[in-house]
Amino acid sequence: MSINDNVNHVKATLTPFSGITLIAASKYVDASGIQALFDAGVTHIGENRVEAFLEKKAQLSHLPITWHFIGTLQSKKVKHVINEIDVLHSLDRLRLAEEIEKHRRDPLPCFIEVNASEEPSKHGLALDDVEAFVDALAPLKKIHVIGLMTLAQATEDETLLRETFKKLRAIKDNIEQKQLSYAPCHYLSMGMSNDYLIASEEGATHIRLGSILFKEEM
Ligand SMILES: *Cc1c(COP(=O)(O)O)cnc(C)c1O
Repeated sequence: MSINDNVNHVKATLTPFSGITLIAASKYVDASGIQALFDAGVTHIGENRVEAFLEKKAQLSHLPITWHFIGTLQSKKVKHVINEIDVLHSLDRLRLAEEIEKHRRDPLPCFIEVNASEEPSKHGLALDDVEAFVDALAPLKKIHVIGLMTLAQATEDETLLRETFKKLRAIKDNIEQKQLSYAPCHYLSMGMSNDYLIASEEGATHIRLGSILFKEEM
């Protein structure tokens, strides 16, 4: 099946949910693949690596794409890329926030990355550290916390996945309740190809899909 067919299939599965933003994880494709996604109606694109991001964005500058940066961002690369990003999904440490504060021109919509699955190999803040981290961001004028992001376990265990998504949602709700002007925190970026329907049931507002959009046969 083509990218267009895959996008239509995914969109059909999302009809029970409203207001979910579909972000295509474009690490698997070059600029022509992103063009095919755009032609299929996907306007939110998420890249992982700084070099690939800058190259693909430059090649597609004629398209009105919203560019999400979803990979780990090294502090030393911030100055090269930060003003090219529309939404950052991987804010996970104060040093990174301070570097963004230094180089970014306008406030940047950010998701805080949380290690909600509590796996040692994963990036992201520990669940218990998220609220203090949000407090520490208060003085930074260029950081606008729009939500929390996580990568769940690579598992088929639906119960485990739901628990992870629920944990993220609970912290999101706590922060949202505080009504902080710099951290409205309305959104949840969670759910990938294997778990996006579960994530959507658990309140995802942004899903990041890669392989399911690019596979040839479904
Ligand atoms: C690759 C990637 C995705 C999409 O993963 P799939 O399993 O291919 O859907 C989502 N989020 C991040 C951060 C990724 O790197």
